[in-house]
Amino acid sequence: MASKDDKNDEKPKTGSDEKQEEHSPDHSDSLMDKIAHFFSDKLHLTSQTSDEEDSGRQVLNHVTIQGVIDAWKRGLFKNIVTMVGAGISTSAGIPDFRSPTSGLYSNLQKYNLPYPEAIFEIDYFRENPQPFFKLAKELYPGTFKPTPSHYFVKILQDKGLLLRHYSQNIDTLERIAGIDDEKLVEAHGTFYTNHCIDCQKEYAMEWMKDEIFKDSVPTCPECNGLVKPDIVFFGENLPERFYVLPHRDFKQCDLLIIMGTSLTVQPFASLVDFVSDNCVRLLINRDKVGKTTSGFLRGVFFGEGLCFDLPGNRRDVAYEGDCDDGCLFLADQLGFGDALREMVKTEHERIDKESGKTNSDQKESKEEESSKDSLDDRPEEEQSKEKLLKESDGKDSDVKSSI
Ligand SMILES: [Zn+2]
Repeated sequence: MASKDDKNDEKPKTGSDEKQEEHSPDHSDSLMDKIAHFFSDKLHLTSQTSDEEDSGRQVLNHVTIQGVIDAWKRGLFKNIVTMVGAGISTSAGIPDFRSPTSGLYSNLQKYNLPYPEAIFEIDYFRENPQPFFKLAKELYPGTFKPTPSHYFVKILQDKGLLLRHYSQNIDTLERIAGIDDEKLVEAHGTFYTNHCIDCQKEYAMEWMKDEIFKDSVPTCPECNGLVKPDIVFFGENLPERFYVLPHRDFKQCDLLIIMGTSLTVQPFASLVDFVSDNCVRLLINRDKVGKTTSGFLRGVFFGEGLCFDLPGNRRDVAYEGDCDDGCLFLADQLGFGDALREMVKTEHERIDKESGKTNSDQKESKEEESSKDSLDDRPEEEQSKEKLLKESDGKDSDVKSSI
């Protein structure tokens, strides 16, 4: 199990020097500042809390994963916020956009798109919705099962420790894992609900699923407009909850767990900066991402990032490895590893049982489709999907990385 702790060793004083420079009068009125403040206001996201008197308190005895576990056992974390990306879903077999072999974009050639991203552009969709619905059929949630990482968050909820779960994923696996609607912020939308893009009438997931699986383009009976799953396309706003809830959640948060995301997609990535100075931030990911950027963007546009290797780091810890491994490791250390494994087992059995018939129906339907479509490269795709399921070949990048 790959696990690495962050130690805070003596390093040159670059961090604090840069910080001073940023706040010098020369920079305070810069255009970048104004733009940053504009976005900050727009998003109702005020960087950091104002309770300055509280800042500087050392929560962790050791700035290591063990330090986080010790603090957890001492009951210091009561308002946990989780922020996740595609890395928590890859072991469920959900393909990663950016991976050259299994990534979605590499499989889009058959749709004859002008460029791959067009499949998620609202203007292109209005003109030519078929490619999106064909892809949606391939990827439709329901054929996938939540991962140990999802159930880890579910256990946090059951223990009353979960303040909110912010997900970049559109796969609905959080909902399947039983995370409450009220605890969820699906930052890039979800397949769970659907709306007519013209009259905004809402349609249920089952209705959409039927439409997609009978290969019709879902059309609103009220106004004849296209009906689209509520995943956020290029050219659309993020869900309202994403603009409203961080404002209060991140102030209260005492442990921020960031999992399976490259922290490159804005504005999601910048949320890490909206916690208080005392909030411990734990990254569970294959790579140490989200580190403080250098140059003019730092602290201006997207906050200051995570401070793993910087002098003065009191609260940022990285576990470098797969999300599922990290969650199981944490759960074991905290005494609920067996409960987590049991939950994964019984829930997967339940899902298999409940979806058994539906899945075999879908399989038949997919096979028909496959024989109809001369451009289909299904066998290769099925193989890579299979491979993903077996190897849990999780990447840290985001399903919606370019959306
Ligand atoms: Zn309509």
